[in-house]
Amino acid sequence: MEEIKKIGILTSGGDAPGMNAAIRAVVRAGIHEGFDVFGIRRGYMGMIEGDIIPLTSQLVSGIIQKGGTILQTARCKEFMSYEGRKKAYDELVRFGIQAVIVIGGDGSFTGASIMTKEFDIPFIGIPGTIDNDLFGTDYTIGYDTALNTVVEAVDKIRDTASSHGRIFFVEVMGKEAGFVALRSGIACGAEGILVPEEKGQMEKLRKYLAERARSKKSSIILVAEGDEEGGAIPIARIIRNEFPELDIRTTILGHIQRGGSPSAFDRVTASRMGAAAIDALLDDQKSIMIGMVNNEIVHVPLSKTVKLHKDLDFDLLKLAEILI
Ligand code: ATP
Repeated sequence: MEEIKKIGILTSGGDAPGMNAAIRAVVRAGIHEGFDVFGIRRGYMGMIEGDIIPLTSQLVSGIIQKGGTILQTARCKEFMSYEGRKKAYDELVRFGIQAVIVIGGDGSFTGASIMTKEFDIPFIGIPGTIDNDLFGTDYTIGYDTALNTVVEAVDKIRDTASSHGRIFFVEVMGKEAGFVALRSGIACGAEGILVPEEKGQMEKLRKYLAERARSKKSSIILVAEGDEEGGAIPIARIIRNEFPELDIRTTILGHIQRGGSPSAFDRVTASRMGAAAIDALLDDQKSIMIGMVNNEIVHVPLSKTVKLHKDLDFDLLKLAEILI
């Protein structure tokens, strides 16, 4: 195989705090190893359009503490067709880019995995999503920061909830996975946690409201947006009808969960994963995601991480129920 000299980096899918720390690590570790590093703007869209710039060590200075992504991100339909990926490949060839590092979620890795097979170009994935829903890694970049944002917000909601004796349904991100709801729920001492992975939770909620809610100063029920009833608003509607005597409110935390300065944990994880992606290229890896398991860097085939499902920690869900 031809020696790799020029590499590209892009961020794709939803943005997540810590993506900039990962970009910085890739650029600086890459330059340290003698690579020329190019930034591909707006994810696969920029790859197709040739929106590509050389990155230097100075260009990534002062970004480790910034949320979002300096390379910007996009969702790109065109990349889902062979013709779109061929255009993207032609642009890579035009710039002399021989390998690509993608920071994103499972959609981005699906695209990367397909392109590696079609055009024999190495793709290394770095998991960047607040959802933490990728198989093969304990943590994704952005998850810890999002958890801290939720905890800070819910602590504030708790103040008003307990002053008025209210029940708050707080909706957090997680269309298909309840990792954010579960872990932030434990951290906030939530009285209920509703996640997409667990069915029949409404019955538990009804039981709690009928038997215990009145003996509490306040109740916070954390709801992942993809739970079986469809989020906090429909649940609050149902409960209001069934328990008209309760003072019920809903809050949807929304996009504040994506923004903000990354936590120390996310910055360190992103730095380690970025440098590990460069190591993986030096190691002739072609189609893998960098993961972290038990605090060790691991390599997971992209085909595996996009096919396999990461299970929620049901012991943690049980613990939350015990601790109410
Ligand atoms: P997040 O978890 O934050 O949503 P993601 O990487 O899963 O991140 P997606 O919107 O699913 O985000 O995917 C990002 C981009 O990856 C898509 O806009 C598309 O360009 C590419 N992509 C997704 N699925 C495929 C696919 N099946 N084939 C080719 N490309 C794909």
